[in-house]
Amino acid sequence: MAKNEQFVSQIADIETEFPQWYTDVVLKTKLVDYGPVKGTMVIRPYGYAIWENIQREMDSRFKAAGVENAYFPLLIPMSFMTKEAEHVEGFAPEVAVVTHAGGAKLEEPLAVRPTSETIIGHMMGKWVESWRDLPLRVNQWCNVMRWEKTTRPFLRTSEFLWQEGHSVYATSEEAERETLSMLQLYEDFAKTVLCMPVLTGRKTEKEKFAGAVATYGMEAMMHDGKSLQSGTTHYMGQNFAEAFDIQFTDKDGTLKHGYTMSYGVSTRLIGAIIMTHGDQRGLVLPPPVAPVQAVIVPIAQKKEGVLEACRALEERLRAAGIRVKVDDSDNSPGWKFNEWEMKGVPVRIELGPRDIESGKMTVFRRDTCEKGDGYLLSDAEELIHGLLGSISDNLYLKAQKRMQERIVPADDLDALLAGVNGGCFVRAGWCGCRECEDRVKEYAQATARVMAKENTSEKCVVCGKPSVHTVFFARAY
Ligand code: ZN
Repeated sequence: MAKNEQFVSQIADIETEFPQWYTDVVLKTKLVDYGPVKGTMVIRPYGYAIWENIQREMDSRFKAAGVENAYFPLLIPMSFMTKEAEHVEGFAPEVAVVTHAGGAKLEEPLAVRPTSETIIGHMMGKWVESWRDLPLRVNQWCNVMRWEKTTRPFLRTSEFLWQEGHSVYATSEEAERETLSMLQLYEDFAKTVLCMPVLTGRKTEKEKFAGAVATYGMEAMMHDGKSLQSGTTHYMGQNFAEAFDIQFTDKDGTLKHGYTMSYGVSTRLIGAIIMTHGDQRGLVLPPPVAPVQAVIVPIAQKKEGVLEACRALEERLRAAGIRVKVDDSDNSPGWKFNEWEMKGVPVRIELGPRDIESGKMTVFRRDTCEKGDGYLLSDAEELIHGLLGSISDNLYLKAQKRMQERIVPADDLDALLAGVNGGCFVRAGWCGCRECEDRVKEYAQATARVMAKENTSEKCVVCGKPSVHTVFFARAY
């Protein structure tokens, strides 16, 4: 067992060295590796398979909502970037620019897209002519580049993968409604696919997207009590429609500007999964996105009939729609147990000569690390399906309980500081002024994550003036 112990000890302590724990987990489970250019990441097959599952689940929800996929160019003329004043100011520090190509200096520099409002706005301006063309709702799955100074795999990298949806509507009501309904779609997705509870709400002016009228976000609490912004939706009003001449002739014959909105989630969601559900043994993957949902480990696999029985079970489970794999490598069963536990596979089935003889199997569930024998092989499909469902439920409830227990109120800055120091989100009143928001950042290194739907506070946590918004403050990734 020495080899196994060594295996576990290679991961830093989750409670006392969380950042190192994260790095150990993403590298040792082969989710990612560092790219040769500083700040870039290589998503390895095991990590990419999680992304594909996220993508498939999310994409089917978009399609059910009536959104169509398209693809827009990676390169954006710099002149586009400068058309919306706030947008260019917000993104300028992060934009990578192509100045040379084909061995010559370009006439106009080209931005490598940090987000595509401008180029999609430009195209919408061409495509939209009459009220009959509206609404226009497109989404693209692509990469974007934002030159970041400090980077961490999945959480903040110079290049990442995401989806960005963009819609234009005839009225502000419709565009605002879509902004909220996409936030709702994200929240449902987080709950049912990632087993992750989130707080949703409107962002403050300081935290909103550059160029938006209003930004809404979903925030998830990580193992260390810090917040991870896991998805955002933006209502743009007519800011981009005016900048890019997105105009239509309305039913009454008059020419009007449309109202646009956008929404996005990225490979950051993989970081969210890792830091929401992971434990000392490594990853704990939610069954809906786990590349392998059940691994079958043969016991005494050289004995006659063992591997055959494992393969037969694998075939049955696969036919039942379960992502399953037999680990028939030369490693010892104990080594395999540790390996697959570290990789977060939700269910492990152990099958040896005695099990096969008695028509039973031993089953281990990764979320609780409980192991039970005596499960009937003949019922395997139903049993494993049921178990995957119960693991999803349990992961969500566990994370929800942690979040509920760790949202604390504060009446003053010291209480707020004590709250975030204790790994909590702090719910507090705010007068709405930028100075007080800046003061929270300076005093407690915490930021306004989202505003609560209702103001239930009496006074501002900083200045004591009447509260205008109740805000969730936290330290954030
Ligand atoms: Zn104040």
